Amino acid sequence: MEKCIFCQIVAGDIPASKVYEDEHVLAFLDITQVTKGHTLVIPKKHVRNLLDMDSETAQQVFAPIPQLARRLQTVTGASGLNMLNNSEAVAGQTVFHAHIHLIPRFNDEDGLTIDFKTNEPNFEQLSQLAKAITNEV
Ligand code: 5GP
Ligand code: ZN
Repeated sequence: MEKCIFCQIVAGDIPASKVYEDEHVLAFLDITQVTKGHTLVIPKKHVRNLLDMDSETAQQVFAPIPQLARRLQTVTGASGLNMLNNSEAVAGQTVFHAHIHLIPRFNDEDGLTIDFKTNEPNFEQLSQLAKAITNEV
């Protein structure tokens, strides 16, 4: 079976522009640079995506993110930043090793468009859904 591309980066088999590394986590610049400084933060161990991730791994992956985000902002001069995760193909995942995108933001036309469709609130539905999610084990 062909090895996962991000596992190959962790192993040092293919190069990456690393910006952060510790025992469990690696962060490196995304090759496509949606905006300047676009960075991927990954667990070193192979996890498919957020839907497969345990809490301990999530803590390890998210712990360095605030400081890394501030470094990206300082270096790129960004005004803000989006943090994104695509889990499964329907959500846009193309590399099936979990990763968090950190995307510095400069203005409305900087390369990233996020379009939230808005709906009229239905409070009864919200209440039922919230109960179902709260009680799901
Ligand atoms: P996804 O669509 O799965 O959320 O994001 C995958 C990201 O990985 C894409 O933004 C893509 O540009 C990036 N990517 C794919 N292959 C490589 C690679 O070999 N090196 C680096 N640095 N980024 C990669
Ligand atoms: Zn992998």
